[in-house]
Amino acid sequence: MTVTVLNPATEETIATLDEAGFDETDAAVARAQAAFGPWRDVSPRDRGRLLRRLATLVEEHGEELARIESQNVGKPIAGARAEVGMVADVFHFYAGAVDKKHGETIPVAGGIDMTFREPLGVVGLIVPWNFPLNISSWKLGPALACGNTVVLKPAELTPLSALRLAELALEAGIPEGVINVLVGKGRVVGRRLVEHPHVAKIGFTGSTEVGRSVMKGAADTIKRVTLELGGKSANIVFADADLERAAAAAPYAVFDNAGQDCCARSRILVERSAYERFADLLVNATRNVRVGDPTDEQTEMGPLISQQHRETVASFVDTQPLFQGDAPNSKGFWFPCTLVEASNDDRVAREEVFGPVAALIPFDDEADAIRIANDTPYGLSGSIWTENGARALRVARALETGVLSVNSNSSVRVSTPFGGFKQSGFGRELGMHGLDGYSELKNVFYSTEG
Ligand code: NAD
Repeated sequence: MTVTVLNPATEETIATLDEAGFDETDAAVARAQAAFGPWRDVSPRDRGRLLRRLATLVEEHGEELARIESQNVGKPIAGARAEVGMVADVFHFYAGAVDKKHGETIPVAGGIDMTFREPLGVVGLIVPWNFPLNISSWKLGPALACGNTVVLKPAELTPLSALRLAELALEAGIPEGVINVLVGKGRVVGRRLVEHPHVAKIGFTGSTEVGRSVMKGAADTIKRVTLELGGKSANIVFADADLERAAAAAPYAVFDNAGQDCCARSRILVERSAYERFADLLVNATRNVRVGDPTDEQTEMGPLISQQHRETVASFVDTQPLFQGDAPNSKGFWFPCTLVEASNDDRVAREEVFGPVAALIPFDDEADAIRIANDTPYGLSGSIWTENGARALRVARALETGVLSVNSNSSVRVSTPFGGFKQSGFGRELGMHGLDGYSELKNVFYSTEG
């Protein structure tokens, strides 16, 4: 069996790879198990040095990795370069973090109580197709820093950058068996990792639907899970905001990565008194998004990942849009930037579109904005645009979401925690918090009596 990998901008085959199945998954887990003891015992200093070397190799191969990612996902090359830059930064961060996650000594009667952070063992990392290399690094960095070995399963549509990263890890000196990459189906390889008795934890990023099945599958072995799932985030624009700035930024908070972004602020909530003016500004800003050939340095939005996904995205646009831009009429899974006016009860506002479709929704006042923003099963990211600092903090505290920005749409920074509330998942990635999910807390009491 083989996996055919396409370029979504041209529909051309760019690779044909052997497909792993159940037996290959078990073999990869066995390799990771064999590598675990020696890797755990590598001194923190040396583990940090190996991660640092990997970070440097990612930098040195940055252009190559960006081109792989751009070809395989349809990402504009300039954005792909920025993503690879973050991957290097993630490995640099965790290279430095290896020896900075300390235990404690706790005063108790009759002795000394100490805590240690222990690695879990073999961890299964399952990642989606929208940010294959980035999300792999968010999991690999802390997993390796804590002394675990890994089996990494990229999405079957986008395995190429993870395979190249694993080669670079070997070149960096990370021993064989520490990182194992499997190209295969989620319901075969992914499921086997979830159920495997010798896999201690699953770090999963993907849809809420599959996340639910991962959580159920992990129950039999009481496996640890981290779930980074879908989102339907709100971009809340108050009438007192810098409307020009908010409108200029809003398209990129939905249409970056062609909307295939768990953090997409795909519900744009606008205070009614500023709605008409903001809608005009937003249409103008959206008109300027440059959609087209991902290899062009000027391109800001590429195609969707597949024909099937394009059909799903199109099914959300069932009324006359407020605005729909242009997209190439050539081969490739193109879909134009689309703005629709909606109520929060409409399907386009309730379900994750995962494409370049934004819903514009008016609100009456602060309480109404909070009510609408929280009226969703998801809780991943969001933005608040206002010049009133007290209001910004009040609303930030009231929103049921894991990652928020004020007068900005940025969600992700290497050194700060990232993750969801509600059905957007649980556990945190990135920053020092990312280490918690890949280590177990051990408590040792040492008697000083006798
Ligand atoms: P998906 O859930 O279909 O697949 C994710 C991964 O899970 C893939 O590698 C897939 O092969 C695997 N998988 C599928 N079925 C499985 C099973 N039964 N058991 C184990 N693994 C299985 O998601 P996708 O379509 O690749 O990605 C899009 C989704 O990912 C969106 O919902 C998006 O919001 C979410 N996402 C979340 C974050 C986050 O950090 N919260 C980041 C990026 C993407």
